[in-house]
Amino acid sequence: MAATAWLERTDLTPYGGVEPNAEWAAEVRRLAEERDAVLLAHNYQLPEIQDIAHHTGDSLALSRIAAESEASTIVFCGVHFMAETAKILSPEKTVLIPDARAGCSLADSIDADQLRAWKAEHPGAVVVSYVNTTAEVKAETDICCTSSNAVDVVRSIPEDREVLFLPDQFLGAHVRRVTGRDNLHIWAGECHVHAGINGPELAEKAAANPDADLFIHPECGCATSALYLAGEGTVPAERVHILSTGDMVKAARQTKSSTVLVATEIGMIHQLKLAAPEIDFRAVNDRASCRYMKMITPAALLRALREGKDEVHVDPEIAARGRASVQRMIEIGQPGGGE
Ligand code: SF4
Repeated sequence: MAATAWLERTDLTPYGGVEPNAEWAAEVRRLAEERDAVLLAHNYQLPEIQDIAHHTGDSLALSRIAAESEASTIVFCGVHFMAETAKILSPEKTVLIPDARAGCSLADSIDADQLRAWKAEHPGAVVVSYVNTTAEVKAETDICCTSSNAVDVVRSIPEDREVLFLPDQFLGAHVRRVTGRDNLHIWAGECHVHAGINGPELAEKAAANPDADLFIHPECGCATSALYLAGEGTVPAERVHILSTGDMVKAARQTKSSTVLVATEIGMIHQLKLAAPEIDFRAVNDRASCRYMKMITPAALLRALREGKDEVHVDPEIAARGRASVQRMIEIGQPGGGE
């Protein structure tokens, strides 16, 4: 079954017509309480959605918060694979996503059939999948990884075993460079938003802001350029930080620079400013906005809480296999954050 089979994407117009004012906020909170729901928002959500949520963070951290929460319902303000991961980790809970059409170009770059075919070409290889994958792909995976622990996960695999790394080619290239492993095969997937944050743009911004720190998500097309610039001495290596979104918030509280260039989806800037209001955070590409993330509008959230839609279902057998791949990652060490 294709990764996008849960949905026919003929119309991606977000639900609209609701102002995120105080009345809206009070109604969202009231309905959440009535439904015994915990509201989770990814770092790339609209600022008003981040602000109304009980918890904001990266995808895996939110799924773990959801699993530990006593609430019987999880409202996941993010994209579909994230809500699926929450369901995999909390099968007994009701998981709602305010708009199930919110997909992900990276997760959609490989489906379970494609992965099975790739595995058949490399018998005995260990499959390592980034968390930006569908439940069906996780079920075909040996070990999941996040951008924080991808290197540790790959290092945990015996040197002589082939590794199939998916779906992100930039994260894969980062892992191959750090581990120096040449039996690591990389799927040529990418996120259209992160791939659009490119090296020349980063080099130009870094030159214009010579004292700025650089926070770079490893999915970005510019991650390789950033390491190259550091290697060349164009940007001092200590200024380049390759970080997951969760780790960016921690780094924001610790940086000594008054300006930070941020290479990831622009929704991240909101959490960074909340964490360190005195710092000037600047997007490397201010057009890097994920249309899927922005489908979770104030109107969509209200609809989810009023109508109990859209509910996320994962086949129990697929969920169990997907959960095992996430569990193996957790056993290897600190999972850190995903996207
Ligand atoms: S920013 Fe990219 S990886 Fe993240 S949800 Fe959007 S399409 Fe997917």
